[in-house]
Amino acid sequence: MKTCLVIGGGGFLGRHIVEKLLEKGYGVHVFDIRRTFEDKQVEFFVGDLCKKEDLLPAMKDVDTVFHCATPSPLSNNKQLFHAVNYHGTKTILEAAQEAGVQRLVLTSSASVVYEGKDIVNGKEDLPYASKPMDYYTETKILQEKLVLDADSEDFFTVAIRPHGIFGPRDPHMLPTTARMAKAGKTKFIIGDGKNTVDFTYVENVVHGHILAAEHLEKDSVVRGKAYNITNDDPIYF
Ligand code: NAD
Repeated sequence: MKTCLVIGGGGFLGRHIVEKLLEKGYGVHVFDIRRTFEDKQVEFFVGDLCKKEDLLPAMKDVDTVFHCATPSPLSNNKQLFHAVNYHGTKTILEAAQEAGVQRLVLTSSASVVYEGKDIVNGKEDLPYASKPMDYYTETKILQEKLVLDADSEDFFTVAIRPHGIFGPRDPHMLPTTARMAKAGKTKFIIGDGKNTVDFTYVENVVHGHILAAEHLEKDSVVRGKAYNITNDDPIYF
């Protein structure tokens, strides 16, 4: 079976992608700035994705790269987001092409089209936000453009855009909600209380990524495109 590299594979989504790839019989490399788990079936590379010399050993004999690394979206560090999400992604693309990788699947974000107004049943043809809501989103847009533009005759790319992700080991949504609840901050209703927001179960997000990778072939329609991902039914809170 082919070997995949999961950049950010030590994180919430990345580790779920790793587990599903192993279950499907793929060889798996993980690249992350911190080692978060041990698994004999996985070759773990600790490094900074901004450094090509760190990335290249992890990409040796790799067919497909999943790029799901990011600094925490809660940070407000403009410089860090630009360094990692934009310049780092450029470095990943250069390293991947140098190493002879054939495919790259980027985890983007639904926020790339969010302009501060409600979106209901939004499709992929919505324009990028002209005023991104924060530095994270600003650099997710730049990153997605870079990746989709890099699609070529011998290097295939696609982007998957989840909104919120939930599921086992979620370090973000549920702990934040619990913290808010403990602090008594869930007593306020914004709007009429009927607002909906999109959260997708992590295994569905993983499924979307692997499906996209497995269809990333020369004549595939998915090449160079971004796809929204969600559950079948909305979840009401
Ligand atoms: P996470 O924080 O759990 O994982 C990100 C991983 O990236 C971490 O393990 C971190 O160590 C690693 N990383 C950060 N900087 C790095 C660097 N310089 N070099 C190497 N590794 C580095 O985040 P997550 O929730 O798993 O998010 C994964 C992807 O999904 C991200 O691209 C994020 O933008 C996207 N996304 C997440 C959500 C969500 O609700 N969690 C929603 C939409 C999009």
